[in-house]
Amino acid sequence: MNRIRPIGLLAMAVVAACAVGSAAGDEPQLQERFDTIVLDAGHGGEDDGARGARGLLEKELVLDVGKRVAARLRKRDLRVVMTRNDDRFVPLEERFAIANDARGDLFVSIHANATDDASVRGVETFFLAVDASDEDARRVALRENEAFAGATGLPDLNDPLSAILGDLIVSDYMNESNEFARLAQRGLASRDPQHSRGVKQAPFVVLQGVQMPSSLVEIGFVTNAEEEKRLRTSRARDRIAKALVAAVLEFGEQFDARRGVGQQLPGGSRSYAHTREDEGAK
Ligand SMILES: [Zn+2]
Repeated sequence: MNRIRPIGLLAMAVVAACAVGSAAGDEPQLQERFDTIVLDAGHGGEDDGARGARGLLEKELVLDVGKRVAARLRKRDLRVVMTRNDDRFVPLEERFAIANDARGDLFVSIHANATDDASVRGVETFFLAVDASDEDARRVALRENEAFAGATGLPDLNDPLSAILGDLIVSDYMNESNEFARLAQRGLASRDPQHSRGVKQAPFVVLQGVQMPSSLVEIGFVTNAEEEKRLRTSRARDRIAKALVAAVLEFGEQFDARRGVGQQLPGGSRSYAHTREDEGAK
């Protein structure tokens, strides 16, 4: 896209005009510290998402995990906005609107994986790219995008201007999205490192319209009998929630450090490091 300079510059101007809460000067007091996380539980309502052989539904699993993450983050004095709190289908545009209206500092979409090969298992974490990093990643994005087929509000990738706009929005947050994905993957995969599937990139539509760093986590395969059984347990769900919360807190510290906000602000009790009392409690 870089070769189309004039449109690129125009797009950049549009993006700058649309940007909310971005750094507008050198005044550190205008910088907002990391405080708002948008959690997106995948699927819902008529969209079950993936289904395990013994009936575990992705939509129920990821909502429950999302609620556990939210509860833990709120205990850390962070603001959490969920795109859905119950079993209903939230259209794509509404998910974008909820996230962007909340002016989130981070968007985390929570999903569970599925494949025809019942032996496949493990955790993988994605951040957005126009091209998938490999065939498996492309397949995951295709499956996860299915529910939003025909959705409006997406950048039309055939239209040069919106493609570039989308590109810029993506690249603006790409480094931070990548950073969060790595933190999340490291934590989520720590229980079962030999089955870690790593950090990947793919064109998930749900990540395309959110104007903040974003990541999509696949917390395990419901199509693997062992993982389906494990993912039914409260213990496994808490463990996942704990790993995600630790990743969010670490990301938040780095987010603030990059923006030069931190200890000098009032409310020093907000140093996340001092509130990780349950690290390793299990
Ligand atoms: Zn899903």
